[in-house]
Amino acid sequence: MDAILNQKNIYDLLEQVPDPEVPALSIIDLGIVRNVEIENGKAVVTITPTYTGCPAMDMIEVNIKAVLQENGIESEIISVLSPAWTTDWMSEEGKQKLKAFGIAPPVGKTTDKLSLLGEEKLVKCPICNSNNTQMISQFGSTACKSLFKCNDCLEPFDYFKCH
Ligand SMILES: [Zn+2]
Repeated sequence: MDAILNQKNIYDLLEQVPDPEVPALSIIDLGIVRNVEIENGKAVVTITPTYTGCPAMDMIEVNIKAVLQENGIESEIISVLSPAWTTDWMSEEGKQKLKAFGIAPPVGKTTDKLSLLGEEKLVKCPICNSNNTQMISQFGSTACKSLFKCNDCLEPFDYFKCH
């Protein structure tokens, strides 16, 4: 099979690779793909894990290779840990999809004042947009999420806190 080996084509294919934890989001939405190069007829994809030790990352590497292979593209995945991924890298579209999925998107910049002061960030309820929410548990359905509860609509929801 003659694969069209160019960066655009590879980015398009990477759009089809879902985040194992939030399948509504692609790894492009998450902003973890740092670079794509073509070297010796191979796609060299550089990614930055959402956080070290996130078990989902191994799956992402396997999924990238599988999607590219299905399209006749050999690939090599390089993990770069520095600079560390932050939720700021997530695309606006990604944050919207996260919300539509019922998970509160990460709030604000990682360098915002409240977080420097060590204060709790304001997490909006993805269901009714209320700011009147509270954290129930540090760990939600996976280690990357915290479990919150909305005090207005009383719905529990996950907050994506990987950073
Ligand atoms: Zn609510």
